Amino acid sequence: DQETTEDVEETRKSLPVYKVRSQLLQLIRENQVMIIIGETGSGKTTQLAQYLYEDGFCNDGRLIGCTQPRRVAAMSVAKRVSTEMHVELGQEVGYSIRFEDLTSPNTLIKYMTDGILLRETLLDDTLEKYSCIIIDEAHERSLNTDVLMGIFKTVLKKRTDLKIIITSATMNASKFSNFFGKAPLFTIPGRTFPVQVIYSKFPPEDYVEAAVTETVKIHLSTPIDSGDILIFMTGQEDIETTCDVIKEKLLQVYIKKYGISKFSEINDLEILPIYSALPAHIQSRIFRSTDNNKRKIVVATNIAETSLTIAGIRYVIDTGLSKLKVYNPKIGLDSLAITPIAQANANQRSGRAGRTGPGIAYRLYTEESFDDDMYVQAIPEIQRTNLSNTVLLLKSLSVSDVLKFPFIDPPPLQTLLTSLYELWSNGALDNKGCLTPLGKEMAKFPLQPSLSKILLVSAQNGCSEEMLTIVSMLSVPQVFHRPNERQEESDLARSRFFIPESDHLSLLNVYGQWRNNNFSSSWCKKHFLQYKSLVRAHDIRTQLATVMEKQGIQLVSSGSDWNIIRKCICVGFSHQAAKISGLGKYIHLRTGMDVQIHPTSALFGLGDLPPYVVYHELLMTSKEYLCCVTSVDPFWLMESGFLLYDIRRMKTDKEMNPR
Ligand code: ADP
Ligand code: MG
Repeated sequence: DQETTEDVEETRKSLPVYKVRSQLLQLIRENQVMIIIGETGSGKTTQLAQYLYEDGFCNDGRLIGCTQPRRVAAMSVAKRVSTEMHVELGQEVGYSIRFEDLTSPNTLIKYMTDGILLRETLLDDTLEKYSCIIIDEAHERSLNTDVLMGIFKTVLKKRTDLKIIITSATMNASKFSNFFGKAPLFTIPGRTFPVQVIYSKFPPEDYVEAAVTETVKIHLSTPIDSGDILIFMTGQEDIETTCDVIKEKLLQVYIKKYGISKFSEINDLEILPIYSALPAHIQSRIFRSTDNNKRKIVVATNIAETSLTIAGIRYVIDTGLSKLKVYNPKIGLDSLAITPIAQANANQRSGRAGRTGPGIAYRLYTEESFDDDMYVQAIPEIQRTNLSNTVLLLKSLSVSDVLKFPFIDPPPLQTLLTSLYELWSNGALDNKGCLTPLGKEMAKFPLQPSLSKILLVSAQNGCSEEMLTIVSMLSVPQVFHRPNERQEESDLARSRFFIPESDHLSLLNVYGQWRNNNFSSSWCKKHFLQYKSLVRAHDIRTQLATVMEKQGIQLVSSGSDWNIIRKCICVGFSHQAAKISGLGKYIHLRTGMDVQIHPTSALFGLGDLPPYVVYHELLMTSKEYLCCVTSVDPFWLMESGFLLYDIRRMKTDKEMNPR
């Protein structure tokens, strides 16, 4: 293992931030807020917290907190810092992300997601236990980071001893300074090498294929020790496909060249995927340096843009795309879509090739597309996402008029109004816009309001055991495993778990059967289920059960009365309902938009499609797909207070589906 032989003290001293250590500490002592700008890899995330610690910021028992927009970064950086400090992870250095807390009473440096710190403000609105908080990766403008900065405006007045350090890559920084009354900006002098940028002559038809072709070309035409390759993809699915296809293509070449027969015999390269759902031990492999006879090919999401630094990258391949949450406030729809990145992000990506020497960035899009199709800066998340969760949180923090909250960039008025409406229709707010008792209960769960609501109503309806399982299963990515080379087999395995009227119930069924098989991993493997996801769901279930217990909510089982369960789901998701409109087609009730059931759904392709459904998530690709769907009775939709425009023509489940 490389880590044990590395001289961490030497490495620490070689980082650009080390040269300005005392200057920085001086500035921090003199200012309550400051902004630190530095190239990726200069040492902001791993070093600043340690400098503060060494300078005595924990001497009175208070903590140094450091927030990250991404879970993966919080975990990986905490691990790195614990190694550098020669302590066990979870002791002096720990991390906390949603549903996973690796800290202890000894913890003095705490890395956490911005969402975690935001929830901590609910329990202690002046954050007494911290002496200093580093808001890292602020340029990324994640929703929770933006909200935190607004909250700090008030906290700083009450806590004159609290230090706030905001770190940013080179974009956007003066905005933060202005927001905090011209807080001082400090730029860490950096060293970077020139990166040659090569555009595609034509827009590629298939970005995965284009990326694979480029990778194979680089790998075969350059010396192995000339450097590693980093490919930017959009998400887990295309990352895994890319890895598989690279292996396939290279294997064909190597068969001809060396007469080998299996990919595992190829010993001059290592292909490493990285995305947030990947288990930590696999993620940490990307940091290990390879020896000179091996080339590393890292296939990553935009997490590798600034939040994780990977050593040795010389070639970058940029698809110019990322998966983003997009929100239409007029119709109140949130969805994931693959969209072009901004120019600033493209430049960050290219920059990854020039950390240790001159590099080359291949952009899989044309120069015209860079100029014409990409924004200069990305739109902050707060302006393109549903804000129900944020509004509920602000209301819980006694911000009575959310329209007047100091947002660094205000969200569209329509988005705030839609969120207020959604919370009101879910019963979290009363007619005056004040938090109701139900709303107060909802805010106690680390979940989106609709999921908190179905947990709360499930208790009254006698199916909280089951709903707890469903909500936990919805909180993990990818329960089913679908390897490329065994798709048909895995689809069949998946379909064996289907409950025809509901994907939610199908998830419940998976969990139930897994439990009946003693939570076995081999059983998961046999049935094409992701064991790690199920373990995580199980863990989340335990934690949510604790939250429910604390609130005095009983865990009761419906004894598999599936109608009660479907009804509860409907109560939380009545604003996400659709009605059948033709063969295999649905119309989204609130907006009139044409939608379809996703092919992975238990309801897909049923001869007898249910007339009304609610869904958990909308996926926009070439079409609008409803993901995780449950058939519902239209009268439940009415009872949930949802106004249906064609109420007179409505019939009950039984009349429409006489079975
Ligand atoms: P910044 O936050 O300024 O981008 P970091 O503090 O994340 O920089 O990284 C500083 C250095 O520490 C980088 O050179 C990086 O290679 C190294 N590093 C960071 N995380 C790890 C890790 N998990 N394992 C090994 N090295 C790491
Ligand atoms: Mg960093």
